Amino acid sequence: QRKFFVGGNWKLNGTKKGVDGIIDFINKDCVDPNVEVVVAPSAIYLDYTRQKVNTSVGVAAQNCYKVGSGAFTGDNSAEMIKDVGCEWVILGHSERRHVFGESDQLIGEKTQFALKSGLKVIACIGEKLDEREAGHTEAVCFRQTQAIIDCIQESDWGNIVIAYEPVWAIGTGKTASPEQAQEVHDTLRKWLADKVSPSVASSVRIIYGGSVTAANAKDLGKKPDIDGFLVGGASLKPDFIQIVKARA
Ligand code: 13P
Repeated sequence: QRKFFVGGNWKLNGTKKGVDGIIDFINKDCVDPNVEVVVAPSAIYLDYTRQKVNTSVGVAAQNCYKVGSGAFTGDNSAEMIKDVGCEWVILGHSERRHVFGESDQLIGEKTQFALKSGLKVIACIGEKLDEREAGHTEAVCFRQTQAIIDCIQESDWGNIVIAYEPVWAIGTGKTASPEQAQEVHDTLRKWLADKVSPSVASSVRIIYGGSVTAANAKDLGKKPDIDGFLVGGASLKPDFIQIVKARA
């Protein structure tokens, strides 16, 4: 009953011309009633993308701050994202955590504010390679998720998608195996049943991100607890169409 969800995180890429090219193949081939498709351009192109991409495709910002407006030079707000007609925001992406130093608590606060503002949230979690090798994968994912749980209500969960993105798999070509991803998703879902509620655990979509390609999406998408993908590099190319259709 969980609708398959495929997000394209364009990261810090694109020009108007490049965006036009991506929107072109999305509007032609990525509109499928059985799949929720959301694309996340750089903030500069949110308005532009929202105006051009098919209305059945969601548009997400890649980040936003924890307040609506004020003296926060360089940042974007949930209000602005909504004002240009976008529906989603990605929060807690590993690049925000590890390149820009965002803490679990800040990500929890941002999630709370974005939801209050009426945005839906793709909340990202995931362990680094040394954490996996030390056997801390679960502990890290639980800690990052708990910081979000602490800031929101049970009723908010209908507006959240969790993206499990192991840091060692992002942009490295080292995809988690379907078994590795399934194991984390399953463990996290069971943990959510206990920490939030059984109904949230069974309804929340947990998607996988990290070197997803047209070639590996089908096998990953067969796993019962993998409810879709958050795609980086491959979302800039027509390969994205095959990832959207991985479950078809
Ligand atoms: P890649 O698909 O390029 O590994 O990026 C994954 C990601 O970070 C999506 O948010």
